[in-house]
Amino acid sequence: MDLYGVLGNPIEHSLSPEIHTQFSQQTGCEIIYKRVLAPLDGFSSTAESFINKGAKGFSITVPFKLDAFDLATDLTDNAKAAGAVNTIKISEGRIIGENTDGIGLVNDLTSNLNVTLKNKVVLVLGAGGATQGLLLPLLNEQPRRLMIANRTRSKAKKMKHDFAQYGETCGFGLDEIKNEPVDIIINATSASLHGEMPDIANGVADGAICYDLMYGNQTPFMDWAEKNNAQMVIDGLGMLIEQAAVAFEFWTGKKPKTGQVFKELRR
Ligand code: NDP
Repeated sequence: MDLYGVLGNPIEHSLSPEIHTQFSQQTGCEIIYKRVLAPLDGFSSTAESFINKGAKGFSITVPFKLDAFDLATDLTDNAKAAGAVNTIKISEGRIIGENTDGIGLVNDLTSNLNVTLKNKVVLVLGAGGATQGLLLPLLNEQPRRLMIANRTRSKAKKMKHDFAQYGETCGFGLDEIKNEPVDIIINATSASLHGEMPDIANGVADGAICYDLMYGNQTPFMDWAEKNNAQMVIDGLGMLIEQAAVAFEFWTGKKPKTGQVFKELRR
């Protein structure tokens, strides 16, 4: 059986072992998938020891996506653009870094929810690590306008500058969001983790598809979207499963189906 896992700190809460075990049963790829707790100052030694045990690949979660970027000997285009790695594959002694977060979000929107991004006005809230992973896959869908709004305005502006080679975006402060509806709002801030709502204009949700990257609980952003006439309100469970499916295919060459996994985890 091939060895895979997820490295993070904390790690007990991770749903990745359940997801990958279901993918493995479904595709007939026999894998063992473990949770691996890495000390906060010991990501690379933990990763190297896991590789030395014969691991063929692993997922990386908070707070090690930048450490994983540094560990990789080779990077995919997505990982280069994101500046962060959430999936590593070991191949012929090379440590190949990929970032599947943004593709996971796009696949959830387009395949599961039938949401088209092409020619749409998309507003991304937040300019942290998650947003970095989303921008290239979102730009590849050719939205009409891709806006990044962040509490700290300078970070949104820097991100616009950093991604200029991949496509046109604009970056500004949360307090500069105009009170006008947009098509899709993606909450990629970590405000939901703290039970908070990013401070934005009420009118933007009117008729919009509102997607919170956080999953597990109804968030203040989701409450706000419902109260403000959003067309659709979604949490990040689908993205989590879709990014795992892309990682599974990257490792094994087999594309798993995600629908049943989603139903079981939603219960
Ligand atoms: P980071 O710590 O890198 O960035 C946090 C961002 O949130 C910053 O832009 C920060 O703004 C903003 N922020 C934090 N608190 C508030 C607030 N109260 N109001 C407004 N803005 C705020 O986090 P990540 O980008 O790594 O993660 C963001 C979220 O995405 C997390 O909830 C994470 O769990 C989720 N996620 C979900 C995934 C999935 O598969 N569903 C995958 C990856 C991430 P500032 O710059 O001003 O500090």
